[in-house]
Amino acid sequence: PTRADITYFGAGPAYLPTDVLELASQALLDYNGTGLGIAEHSHRSELASNIIKEAKEDLATYLDIPSDYETIFMQAGGTGEFAASVYNLVGAWVARQHAAIAKEIGTDDESAIVDALRKRVESDLKVDYIITGSWSLKAYQEAVRLLGPEYVNIVADARKANDGKFGKIPDQSTWKLSKDAAFVYFCDNETVDGVEFPEFPSALAPKEDGTGPIVVSDMSSNILSRRIPVSNYSLIFFGAQKNLGSTGVAVAILKKSFLPPSVTQPSPSLLRKLGLPIPPIILQYEIIAKNNSLYNTLSIFDVYIAGQVLKKLLRTYTDKVDGQQAVAEKKANLIYSALEAHPEVYKIVPEKSVRSKMNICFRVTKNGNVDEAEKAFLKEATSQHLTGLKGHRSVGGIRASNYNSIPLEGAEKLAKFIDEFAKA
Ligand code: PLP
Repeated sequence: PTRADITYFGAGPAYLPTDVLELASQALLDYNGTGLGIAEHSHRSELASNIIKEAKEDLATYLDIPSDYETIFMQAGGTGEFAASVYNLVGAWVARQHAAIAKEIGTDDESAIVDALRKRVESDLKVDYIITGSWSLKAYQEAVRLLGPEYVNIVADARKANDGKFGKIPDQSTWKLSKDAAFVYFCDNETVDGVEFPEFPSALAPKEDGTGPIVVSDMSSNILSRRIPVSNYSLIFFGAQKNLGSTGVAVAILKKSFLPPSVTQPSPSLLRKLGLPIPPIILQYEIIAKNNSLYNTLSIFDVYIAGQVLKKLLRTYTDKVDGQQAVAEKKANLIYSALEAHPEVYKIVPEKSVRSKMNICFRVTKNGNVDEAEKAFLKEATSQHLTGLKGHRSVGGIRASNYNSIPLEGAEKLAKFIDEFAKA
């Protein structure tokens, strides 16, 4: 088949708009008549900084990111951001406690402050994780690996009271938040398990006086697909390779109050005295922010693709992310409705109230046989050029990733196929 024939529902890297790829392939050969391709130009050139600047501005416009947030591009991937969020927000917690202790004991005797700080780390430092699927579980495991289990609190684990499986979001009244945690973490959309938070969790909402939990969210697989209340978060991060662009960059949107001059990360020697891990320099947000995302060599080609995707979104939807959200909901409804019409054949994995609009996970059964039915489903779908539908290897089943680049007609084709397969 040719590119024009297929609809690709893979979970990531994802399908990219063909017109963006056409522009990118030209840019790879010769960027704007410079005789040099975009991947060859220096990341320190004016041309590169303009590409970064425009991508940042377009992202801020599309998502209405307030001006007290900094956006940075990194190479860390989503997984690197699991570690970066721990290092940077624990560092900010340490800096706050350092200042508070200096004030409390009214001295500038650094060794007395460090003694008190060490005790406070041991008694009070906590990072909070809400585990709702495979990716938040991985982020939690990374925090345990870096800090040690004594500092990591599980606020809720969706597998409890659900036969050890993901597919629900535990009732917020049961969540066990730590007092003054360095942050509380959740994954807004669980790519493997098809679970998406229907809205910002009210248990984490800021109070009237503006204080409240320091909220971190992984939005790797649903960013740009729906409106988010950015100001409720201290940090939002995502890899580019689903809704934003090609594999190779990750984005962090960080509240500026976690950066200098408000907060300066603790020195390596202080962290050593406190028994806390020292971040690799390329995971330090303050270093990257200070250097306009160019502390080290950044893939400008990947930022260029992300920028073109954003420009296309802004051209297509005058109401920005709200326009895309309406389309994403329409496409997801088409597919879920087709599945619901044949309950004897299809079983949607997550509970209805937390179904993802981006990753639609389901099982197929015919004549009491799941394996055979799913193999047949995948084979016949592929023969109709509906590809990338195999579920994640850890959970099996079928997964239709309904990212922004899936056109409405693509979702219609899949819904029709789902109906016909059940009837056949
Ligand atoms: N978080 C989510 C929600 C993901 O879906 C993924 C990858 O699929 C990751 C994190 C990990 O991203 P990366 O492979 O860029 O490290």
